[in-house]
Amino acid sequence: AAKAAGRNRVRTFTTDLRYAAERKALLAGELRTAIDAGQLVLHYQPVMYLPTGECSGVEALVRWQHPERGLLPPGEFLPAAERQDLVAPLARWVLGEATRQTAEWSRRGLHVVTGVNISASHFATGTLVDDVAEALAAAGLPAEQLILELTETSVADEPERAAAQFAALRRSGVEVSIDDFGSGWSSISQLINIPTGVIKIDRSLVAGIEGREGSAEAAIAAVVGLAAACGARTLAEGVETAEQLARAAALGCTFAQGYHIARPMPADDLERWMSVWRRAPHLSPSVP
Ligand code: C2E
Ligand code: MG
Ligand code: MG
Ligand code: MG
Repeated sequence: AAKAAGRNRVRTFTTDLRYAAERKALLAGELRTAIDAGQLVLHYQPVMYLPTGECSGVEALVRWQHPERGLLPPGEFLPAAERQDLVAPLARWVLGEATRQTAEWSRRGLHVVTGVNISASHFATGTLVDDVAEALAAAGLPAEQLILELTETSVADEPERAAAQFAALRRSGVEVSIDDFGSGWSSISQLINIPTGVIKIDRSLVAGIEGREGSAEAAIAAVVGLAAACGARTLAEGVETAEQLARAAALGCTFAQGYHIARPMPADDLERWMSVWRRAPHLSPSVP
C-alpha cells in the first residue's frame, strides 16, 4: 500500500510539474501582448527616512493584471520575460510609467524619489542609459527623482561594462542603489568600485535582528560602516515589526521599507496614504 501511495505521489508530482510548465508557457506567450495591451500595473511601496519618519520615497513594483488569473506578482512572469527577450520592452514600460507617475505627483505637490528595479540582463543589453534618458525626457522628470535598483549580479557579470554605464548614469544625475545586499555572495570589492547611492540591506538580514545571538545585527552594523566609507547610505528592506524598525534606526540605517510601514499599493492609494502619514508620521504605521 505504501508503494502504491508512493507511486501516486510521484504521478501527482509529475502532473503538477507538467501543469506548472504549461502554465508558464501560456503566460510567456501572453506577456508580449500584455505589455502593449496595458495589462501591467505598478504598485508603490513607501520608503521611510528614519531620522525624521517622513516618507519621501517609493519603490515601483510591477504587477500583471491578468484578465483571467487576477493580479500576478513579478515572480510569476519576470522569468518568462527573461527567456523571451522581453526584459528591455518591459523595463521601458516600467521606466515610462514610473517617471510619468512621479512627475504627475510632483505637479500635484507630492514630491517623491522613485526607485525602479532593473534586471541584470537589461544592464547587459547596453541600452539602459538611453532608455533611462528617454523616459526622463518624455516625463519631464528631473533625474534626481529617479533611483535605479540593481542587484549585485548585474555588476558581477561584466564589471567593466557595468562601470561605464554607472559612470554615464551618474553623470546624468540618476542615483543607483544595490538591491538585496547580503542575500548572495556580496562582493565588497565591487561595491567600492561603483558609485552607489543607497545599499538596500536584504530582508533576510533585517529579519535576523530580532534574534538573540546578534550576528545579523553585527552584519548590518558592518554594512552601515562600509556604506559610510563609500559615501553611500543604507536602507533596511522588509521591515515587518516595530522592533525591527527601531533596531534598524539604532544601527544607523538611513531608510526603511517594509510591511510594518506600508505594503505596496496602487498609485491612487499611495497619494491618500502619504497625506495621512504626513499628518502623523510616527503614529500611523500600517495605514491600510
Ligand atoms: P525587490 O526589489 O527586493 O522588492 C521588494 C519585494 O519585497 C517586493 O516583492 C515587495 O512587495 C516585498 N516586500 C516589501 N516589504 C516586505 C516585507 O515587509 N516583508 C516581505 N515578506 N516582503 C516585503 P514583489 O513586488 O513581489 O517583487 C519581487 C521582486 O521582483 C523585486 O524584489 C524585484 O527584484 C523584482 N521586481 C519587481 N518589480 C520589478 C520591475 O519593475 N522590474 C524588474 N526588473 N524587477 C522587478
Ligand atoms: Mg528593489
Ligand atoms: Mg530587495
Ligand atoms: Mg528581491
